[in-house]
Amino acid sequence: MTGGAGHLADRLRALLGPERLLDGNLARNLYAHDGSIVTGDCGMVALPETTEEVATCMAMAHAAGVEVTPRGSGTGLAGGAVPLEGGLVISLARMREMGEVDTANACVWVQPGVLNLDVSMAVEHLGLHYAPDPSSQAACSIGGNVGTNAGGPHCLAYGVTVQHVLGLELVRPDGQVVVLGGEAPDPPGFDLRGVVVGAEGTVGVVTRVLLRLTPLPPDVRTMLLDFMTVAEASATVQAIIAEGIIPAALEMMDRNMALAVEEFVHAGLPTDAAALLLVEVDGTRAEVDTATGIVEAVAHRHGVRTVRVARDEEERALLWKARKTAFGAVARVRPSYYLHDCVVPRTRLVEIMEAIGEITARERVICLNVFHAGDGNLHPIIALDRSDPDETERAMRAGDQIVRACIALGGTLSGEHGIGVEKREYMPLVFDSGDLEAQACVRRAFDPDGRMNPGKVLPTGTRCGEVGLADTQVPEGTWI
Ligand SMILES: Cc1cc2nc3c(=O)[nH]c(=O)nc-3n(C[C@H](O)[C@H](O)[C@H](O)COP(=O)(O)OP(=O)(O)OC[C@H]3O[C@@H](n4cnc5c(N)ncnc54)[C@H](O)[C@@H]3O)c2cc1C
Repeated sequence: MTGGAGHLADRLRALLGPERLLDGNLARNLYAHDGSIVTGDCGMVALPETTEEVATCMAMAHAAGVEVTPRGSGTGLAGGAVPLEGGLVISLARMREMGEVDTANACVWVQPGVLNLDVSMAVEHLGLHYAPDPSSQAACSIGGNVGTNAGGPHCLAYGVTVQHVLGLELVRPDGQVVVLGGEAPDPPGFDLRGVVVGAEGTVGVVTRVLLRLTPLPPDVRTMLLDFMTVAEASATVQAIIAEGIIPAALEMMDRNMALAVEEFVHAGLPTDAAALLLVEVDGTRAEVDTATGIVEAVAHRHGVRTVRVARDEEERALLWKARKTAFGAVARVRPSYYLHDCVVPRTRLVEIMEAIGEITARERVICLNVFHAGDGNLHPIIALDRSDPDETERAMRAGDQIVRACIALGGTLSGEHGIGVEKREYMPLVFDSGDLEAQACVRRAFDPDGRMNPGKVLPTGTRCGEVGLADTQVPEGTWI
């Protein structure tokens, strides 16, 4: 480490102590990865515990002209938390305090390192929960959820992260601390929360978040439906919503995924069906009864083979365990996986599932599908062994074709995982140069020097007027 970065490491060590400034090879290697297959280059890692420490770290990095990458739990699937060219990673993992719950207004301030699931567990006794529930919720942080505008199975009915962030505290790239939004129902001035939520760490570091809490539903029922064709399952998804029912969750799993999960979780999933739907309805007992009846009737009209209704909380938890551990079950097929989380209009589900089948067959890769069918948010998981260069190459080719097929069907690049590094060069498929320039200008208004998480979200060479953003190239060969 040389020059400004070396000097910065000394200053940060003096601030945080040697155990909270990591620049050894092990740490630099670990923090050069996240849940994706992107490999980056990490210079040093700071582990602050307070907003004041984050602000001082940011001011020091500003003075030294060093790039900063914020990081939560590192479960991201698009390379967002992976630093690309050395620089400073600010990990928020030690900032895990929750404030007092405001029960009258159903909200709570939390630090960004608090894990998603811990919020719901902490407020359950008050009859509340935090609705966005990524499948990674036992591991991912609220700061990372804000960074990616995370979704989850229950976001179909309840909305994604941005709908649950009432306010946030942001440390700007020069170390200045600002608060956006807050308890007031209609805060004056521009509402900039939506710029920060989903910005993937490119506008500053989020150090506190005011979360909206949602009452626990009085009743809930979970059903598992199985079909002998993906087309019947897809048609059922559309038809349920066309009946005017928005289930709390409406998830699909194909046969490959059911096989992998069943071996692992033993939830009694039918492994001979082409597709399974996990449908959850909630509300009052009467609403749940009505919705269950409608879902069953619609499913029978579309060829469902069996409808299994969870008898009790234990069975319901088992079905959700099967859904939420699905990504991990892929390890039974291959040691690694590669996926995109593109979205298509719900009405195009049949076509995209057929296209994914054709693409993955042509490229001779194993694909397991498990996804948020209700909002058309796909997760075609291509199982791969990264030590096999040929299989890896075929997986990349298949991923590329799947992205393009989704866009061709009127879809978009990401439903919840973000753009990060993985999808940034696809951005011109959905935005013209004027759109991209406008986004670059918004980013530059927050980060004039282009030091916040450079190389993420916007494609290489995107400019704001005459001024280019940091033109970080992903170095050849560092992806996997
Ligand atoms: C098994 C598995 C299942 C998953 N299921 C889902 C799912 O259902 N829904 C879903 O949305 N995602 C899912 N994900 C992806 C991932 O868990 C989410 O993207 C999550 O929001 C990332 O949180 P994190 O704390 O790990 O963030 P990280 O990966 O550390 O960071 C993600 C992004 O946020 C930025 N960031 C992190 N903290 C801050 C901060 N304090 N201030 C500013 N920027 C910050 C980072 O720079 C990066 O760009 C899954 C991942 C796995 C491995």
